[in-house]
Amino acid sequence: MDYRPAEFVRFVLPDEAVEDVIDEAKAETWTKEREHALLVVRDANGEEQFAMVRGGKDGILLERAEDGSISVPVENELFLLHRLAWHVHPVPTGPSDHDFATLDALAQESSMLFEIGGPREGTLFSRKSGRKT
Ligand SMILES: [Zn+2]
Repeated sequence: MDYRPAEFVRFVLPDEAVEDVIDEAKAETWTKEREHALLVVRDANGEEQFAMVRGGKDGILLERAEDGSISVPVENELFLLHRLAWHVHPVPTGPSDHDFATLDALAQESSMLFEIGGPREGTLFSRKSGRKT
């Protein structure tokens, strides 16, 4: 499996059309064979920003510090990861165990998944539903 640490792609501005950003992330996921995600991060001033990142072919590694926080390198700084807004899969596989573990790590209830070849409106997955037991 090819999981790679989150690599910053670009900031996404709040006034950008969500559909266009999703289409861009899908295109990049497809052509680069690397999963893309939109993260809500906090900069050093605590300001929330949207950051597009990419990982490996099978997923994005997010490393937890001892205090449980997850930081993502953005340019020359570490930004604190607040939420996984959505991510893209190259093929429709549904949320992975890794995806559920990420929600657990962030204490986040749910997130959106956009899969190439899957529903255009995306799939909402949550910590309480859909987990294999
Ligand atoms: Zn995933």
